[in-house]
Amino acid sequence: MTWPSGARCAVAFTFDFDAEEVWLAGDPDAASKPGLLSMGAYGANVAVPEILRLLDRRGLPATFFVPGRVAEMHADRVRDIVAAGHEVGAHGYTHRSPTALSRAEEEDELVKTTGILEGFGTAVRGYRSPAWEFSVNTLELLAAHGIGYSSNLMDRLHPYRHPNGVVELPVQWLLDDAAHFWFSPEDWVKTIAAPSHVREIWEEELLGIRDLGGLCVLTMHPQVIGRPSRLRFLDSFMGMVQELDGVWVAGCADIADTVTGS
Ligand SMILES: [Zn+2]
Repeated sequence: MTWPSGARCAVAFTFDFDAEEVWLAGDPDAASKPGLLSMGAYGANVAVPEILRLLDRRGLPATFFVPGRVAEMHADRVRDIVAAGHEVGAHGYTHRSPTALSRAEEEDELVKTTGILEGFGTAVRGYRSPAWEFSVNTLELLAAHGIGYSSNLMDRLHPYRHPNGVVELPVQWLLDDAAHFWFSPEDWVKTIAAPSHVREIWEEELLGIRDLGGLCVLTMHPQVIGRPSRLRFLDSFMGMVQELDGVWVAGCADIADTVTGS
């Protein structure tokens, strides 16, 4: 694997803009729980604008995966993301796992969301499943509808092509903010990690990926990473990435293009 400009590895900053849809998708009663939904509303009200300011200040590109229903609920935010020049990818229409959908439902969600997002004047090149999981139909539907890459599987350190040509940009729980910071008020079983703890994990993993010449996809959620303490952490982490030798930071579509040679 060779990276542009002789870089030793690539880094993608990705944000899954789930907002209230995380809860609305799985629980019909969630619509009547403003306290619960307010955690997601924070992503749209505060976190996305702050993340955009941070990306702008650092001059970094990012990819935002957005469920179609979130793009309808928070159209202004998606407009801001596109206006700032960042890539937008599909993340379901609802935030339901494709494994819970029939083939027709999954295709309908993909087509509908792609149309909604492209209505903001941007091309949709990629797909991230709301569950990081595929149904038996997912890959075929992506290819059939011209979606060039997926960012869902954990089987490699380097991007690669599925047999039907769709590019895979591998992810990992280690590099997901929710795995470290998510707190569930329903059961209280999970401790909230300190930013310093996550910094150590992400920094070491990135250095290891650079040693092996791979791709480091950070998966973040505005409502999770957008708390003030974590924004400070993200800012300094991005600064560390920018100062490292041999790192190419790019949007997911640009990384996928290095695999297809387009
Ligand atoms: Zn999501």
